[in-house]
Amino acid sequence: MRRNLRYNSGRPVLERVAAIALLHDDRLFPAQPGARALARSLYQTVRDLPIVSPHGHTDPAWFALDEPFENATQLFITPDHYVFRMLYSQGIPLEALGVPTRDGTATEPDARTVWRIFASHYHLFRATPSRTWLDHVFQDVFGFAERLCQANADTYFDRIGEALAEPAFRPRALFERFNIELLATTESPLDDLRHHQAIHDSGWPGRVITTFRPDPVVDPDYEGFAGNLDALGELTGCDTTTWSGYLDALRERRAFFRTMGATATDHGHPTAATRDLDAGDAERLFRRVRAGACSAAEAEDFRGQMLTEMARMSIDDGLVMQIHPGSFRNHNAALYARFGRDRGADIPTRTGYVAELKPLLDRFGNEARLRIILFTLDETTYSRELAPLAGHYPVLKLGPPWWFHDSPEGMRRFRRQVIETAGFYNTVGFNDDTRAFLSIPARHDVARRIDCGMLAEWVGEHLLDEDEAFELAPLLARGLAREAYRL
Ligand SMILES: [Zn+2]
Repeated sequence: MRRNLRYNSGRPVLERVAAIALLHDDRLFPAQPGARALARSLYQTVRDLPIVSPHGHTDPAWFALDEPFENATQLFITPDHYVFRMLYSQGIPLEALGVPTRDGTATEPDARTVWRIFASHYHLFRATPSRTWLDHVFQDVFGFAERLCQANADTYFDRIGEALAEPAFRPRALFERFNIELLATTESPLDDLRHHQAIHDSGWPGRVITTFRPDPVVDPDYEGFAGNLDALGELTGCDTTTWSGYLDALRERRAFFRTMGATATDHGHPTAATRDLDAGDAERLFRRVRAGACSAAEAEDFRGQMLTEMARMSIDDGLVMQIHPGSFRNHNAALYARFGRDRGADIPTRTGYVAELKPLLDRFGNEARLRIILFTLDETTYSRELAPLAGHYPVLKLGPPWWFHDSPEGMRRFRRQVIETAGFYNTVGFNDDTRAFLSIPARHDVARRIDCGMLAEWVGEHLLDEDEAFELAPLLARGLAREAYRL
């Protein structure tokens, strides 16, 4: 029947569909013809470079166990808060999307039903980065040429399901197909890193490394903080009821993470506040925090002190620090109570760096061995605070646009506001920062296209020479990340 349907052009639908791709070859390039031509040439030189992914949240169990992904819903919807926050904002309850609850009460159990809801609301994602990433995966990984919609929801679901059962769609095979040179995950100091050990022992050459993310044991407001410190003590044999024993335990876990490939730490604090207390004050503060008796201000002091302690340890062991401040986590109290963290209810806040980082920088800002990569969710800080800081302090570099700003316009705003003051070489290339494994090539491709487009425009304005643009393109795509993260 479909063969009889015709567009106005008179061409049959099937022929027409075959001629349509989900993605345009020139997507995200400048519209102006001269800049577009140069952007294309630059992009040709970086399109196929291996992917370096030094910061993200994929599950190392995927690569340790190499088991097939279950189905389209498990892959694209249930774990991805970028996706379900949009659906939720349009009145679709998380229960209907099969998102698990904290107390185990039932939510929609049928993956196909969830997929149909998603497909019939795919228009909600128009012009969002999620749409670009998803279309990229649908086309490049699964071979679809027709946009997802209500009518083809089942075709999509079935074809993705069939593909996932094939050996070529197992996590390791996809890792290789995606040409990933290195993938970093993030783990708590309480993690035994068994999956990283298994990857290491398996002889598989894929390079998956961990990152030391100590929030559960340095943030007094973290769920289960006191119990986490007990667990840290048991794991290390250190006495985590004392300040010095606690610091020893952290040093020990960092050393262990380094044996599992870690080259970096990551700190997800509510603010960028740092402190530089003398040893007696730090110890007294620790005792209050340890007893669960600290105020909100003391909790902030403690997190700030711990950033400085982490910097001190980084000077010794060489781990690069990443500071990811400014997310108001779990903003929707009722949703948090029912579904827990990472459910799309995290909202950016105003964030300061100049006064906040000063205690740490007064102590360690000129240390040759220390490196700190700063991220922000507050774009007003790009030209006012971050670029001037990174354009001066040798220890500071700027991470790429993060989370809500990991988008074509977000990348352009970042480059336009920081490069003039910080230059390219105080930035660190691209991070995909994702838990959605299949979207990694799509995300790097967006960054490469936007960077090539911006370089082309700046060559057009004679701000850069063409040979400089060709030198910068691969650095932005890969080289700066390798260098910054000491890979
Ligand atoms: Zn992250």
